Amino acid sequence: MRSFFLIKPGEIELKLGNKREFIQRLKEQIHLRLKGIQLELEEYPGRFFLSIDEEYADLALFVLQHCPGVNGVARAIKTVKQPEMVIAAAIQCAREQRERDAKTFKVETRRSDKSFPLDSYGTTVAAADAILEDNSTFSVNVHNPDFTLMIEIRERAYVYANTLPGPRGLPTGTQGKGLLLLSGGIDSPVAGYMMARRGLALEAVYFHTYPYTSIEAQQKVERLATRLAAWTGGIYLWIVPFTEVQQKIAKGPREETNTLMLRMAMMTASSHIARRINAKAIVTGESLGQVASQTAENMRLSQSPSALPIFRPLIGTDKEETVALAKKIGTYDISILPYEDCCVLFSPKHPILKPDFQELADYYASLELEPLIVESVERAEDTLIPFTKSLREYGFHG
Ligand code: ATP
Ligand code: MG
Repeated sequence: MRSFFLIKPGEIELKLGNKREFIQRLKEQIHLRLKGIQLELEEYPGRFFLSIDEEYADLALFVLQHCPGVNGVARAIKTVKQPEMVIAAAIQCAREQRERDAKTFKVETRRSDKSFPLDSYGTTVAAADAILEDNSTFSVNVHNPDFTLMIEIRERAYVYANTLPGPRGLPTGTQGKGLLLLSGGIDSPVAGYMMARRGLALEAVYFHTYPYTSIEAQQKVERLATRLAAWTGGIYLWIVPFTEVQQKIAKGPREETNTLMLRMAMMTASSHIARRINAKAIVTGESLGQVASQTAENMRLSQSPSALPIFRPLIGTDKEETVALAKKIGTYDISILPYEDCCVLFSPKHPILKPDFQELADYYASLELEPLIVESVERAEDTLIPFTKSLREYGFHG
């Protein structure tokens, strides 16, 4: 048995200029993420149609609902454009909904092929009548139905009942690549998800300060990256040993600037990595005013070692909103595991809130961290977390 999915591509419909490339990328991403599974992916104006073996239906649905550039996806019945076939498909679709306890419905028809013998209204009425006749426990409710049965008369006829949301946004890679600073917290995985939705392909970097932070802290970040990879379609995770850098900062005379100096050092290292992997932007989970290092003045300093744009998609969100998103994207339960990240242990008692930019930029330079930072990047391990590993994390096997 084959399963069919109707896929509604997202914003790419608006991108008239490079629409072709966007469509191509989205198709590539769907193929990549379902690699090794026999499938057909057909493209029509404004719709893709995926046909896949029934045993992979749940997997396909998961993949499509995590693929940026997909606005919505529905399991559909595809049929030839004859009224009696369309009506039969509508009845079948309604029966499936009945098995899920749906009792009320409405029908909506979109007809782009005007040669179909019934017009939209005629198709809607004929389908609704046939459904009611087939099962008298159904009733029509146009305002708040248990399900809306959609009929689309296009190059073929498609009948479906539930459109499930995709991530929307733009296909992975259409906006180039970004480097995500991924800590073990709640925010940075969410920031990664938000930028992945905007078409950035992502690699992630974690600065590890063993033994001040435990191996469990690193494993936690690896699991977060694995969850995030469901949205990005696999991800490279760079683990940078940052203990020496941190120790050198801690030896400096200005304890109150420790966090800020560490941020600047991370940004310097991130710039090196970004250059190496050809990333066009750096992504962080910062939110204005959330902690002392996230004031405007401090962000000016912490970003200063990088010439790349810094994307902070959470800058204007509050914690509750971020938590809700973290739950939605599947990272929250891992983020709240109790392993502290380096910054917590190393935090000054009275962090500096209103730094003098030039004075602290000079202080950063005087710490002469560059050779240690370069060495830390040299020693960094970059590991590919493949999409299939992410699928296993979410309970798909094979
Ligand atoms: P998060 O919940 O993402 O850890 P946070 O609210 O704890 O964020 P900070 O600890 O101040 O905030 O970190 C701000 C941002 O700096 C993080 O969102 C992340 O992008 C980056 N960052 C912090 N620590 C690390 C680290 N050890 N490795 C990589 N990036 C880090
Ligand atoms: Mg943190």
